[in-house]
Amino acid sequence: MRVIMMGPPGVGKGTASKQIMKQYQIPHISTGDIFRELFSSDSEIGKIAKSYIDRGALVPDEITNEIVRLRLEKEDVHHGFLFDGYPRNINQANALEQVLKRKGWKIDAVFDIQADDQVLIDRISGRRVCETCGAVYHIDNNKPKVEGICDLDGGKLVQRVDDRAETIAHRINVYKEQTQPLIKWYDEKKLLVHIDGAQTIDHTLEQIAKVLGELN
Ligand code: AMP
Repeated sequence: MRVIMMGPPGVGKGTASKQIMKQYQIPHISTGDIFRELFSSDSEIGKIAKSYIDRGALVPDEITNEIVRLRLEKEDVHHGFLFDGYPRNINQANALEQVLKRKGWKIDAVFDIQADDQVLIDRISGRRVCETCGAVYHIDNNKPKVEGICDLDGGKLVQRVDDRAETIAHRINVYKEQTQPLIKWYDEKKLLVHIDGAQTIDHTLEQIAKVLGELN
């Protein structure tokens, strides 16, 4: 199964992707996570990526596409994968198509998860992540047992720099301008599935699971 999760920041792509990865045993490829890992390991590419991420801009396509190309060379993707946050514009979608074509692979479905801007803003502004393991919480809807501390490893919970109020609106605009055109692109390829992401994460997952069940 090869699927893509699309949707604006804060819509729940990451949370839904992690559940699907567990349930279907396929690797979850989040370009955002890859960039954050590269930055934590002090790599040069990580530092370049962070300069874009922190201001809510897209990392240049040459870097992003190359990272994805390398990721698709790994063994674990042979039985399928789930992209979360990639592709984010038409140029990346074309690059992905070329890589997949060379491998003789096809995308089975593209999930377009949607919610109103206000829902996104509320979710992102309350999001906190563990500094050490990256686990995600929310100050109202998904609280840790002890405020400010990760349930899993006791790490400190922090707000991502790009989740701060001043950057959120910009990220949503970048999504509308650059990523939304992909919806039509994938719709024309008959791959698009609309998902209502405005309610609970369980509701989002139920809708996705139904389609994945039909694909399997
Ligand atoms: P995410 O974790 O998916 O919200 O991504 C966080 C940030 O990483 C984005 O706001 C971008 O700056 C960068 N990023 C992640 N994926 C991509 C991508 N496919 N293309 C360009 N930049 C990306």
